Amino acid sequence: MTISFKISENTKEKMIKYFQDKKRTKTPAYAIFQADEEDTVVTLYESGKVVFQGISADIDANMWKEMEKHLNPNADLKEKNSEKKKKKDQEERLINSKIYYATTIGSDEVGTGDYFGPIVVTGAYVEKENIPYLEELGVTDSKKLDDSKIMELVPLIIKKIPYACYVLSNPQYNEKYSNDINMNKIKAILHNKVLLALTEKYPNTDYVVVDEFAAPSVYFNYLKKTPTYRKITFMTKAESKCLSVACASMISRYVFLKEFEKIEKYLGISLPKGASATVDKVGAKIIQDHGIEIMKEIAKLSFKNTEKIKNMLKEK
Ligand code: MG
Repeated sequence: MTISFKISENTKEKMIKYFQDKKRTKTPAYAIFQADEEDTVVTLYESGKVVFQGISADIDANMWKEMEKHLNPNADLKEKNSEKKKKKDQEERLINSKIYYATTIGSDEVGTGDYFGPIVVTGAYVEKENIPYLEELGVTDSKKLDDSKIMELVPLIIKKIPYACYVLSNPQYNEKYSNDINMNKIKAILHNKVLLALTEKYPNTDYVVVDEFAAPSVYFNYLKKTPTYRKITFMTKAESKCLSVACASMISRYVFLKEFEKIEKYLGISLPKGASATVDKVGAKIIQDHGIEIMKEIAKLSFKNTEKIKNMLKEK
């Protein structure tokens, strides 16, 4: 048993005095002393952290906890708060592991930060029986995997994992979102689409998880006028906490890369991802070679890059 907590200066002094004759000859790094009290090993650190180890650690720890409370009635509060936080963390871990090992539908998107290429949103349905298979494959947040790994793993994932994927092509994006651009609204609409499709086909899920990109109330507000799937568990960093979201993120990435490749082949050049200054340079070159009309087919025109590219061409 190991128990540790922090004590104030005055308790520290009492402890140093008390353990004077019980000290071990060796002192661990950053410790004031390490001592034996019957079966308990007590280590006091310079920071004020004290650690009790052994079968009866709780008895000795309680004695010093009482001393700390007695000498510092206000320090009491600090300890309670940290206990509360610990409890909250514990509860969160419990819920997370419950969701991790459950049968879930999860969704994630790719391409919302890339000037070139479409937006892809995927939902995946992972039954708990398939979790070991996915763990064996090394399924994880797609951001942690390089493109070649994605290309290798996704064909194996979709052998067993049902999914629904929606691709918002560049012409569609430019037609629908040229003026009223709100990327979170677009995400909400597309996530809702794949969730409706999947939950209809697979109604027996424990959780439907969305990687949280907006507050739930905001998410549902975007969908006011559309039939909406509502029983959603929103989670931050869901790609690493829920395998269906991880699968969804990987499949989205895979489809995005395939679409991206098509554009590259069509143009005969390799394209940069993201929305950096390199993107602007390549964009300008494409317009010079193919004319401005082609941009509607391959890029998201509402991005600031479009203005920057136009200005670059004006300066020439
Ligand atoms: Mg995400």
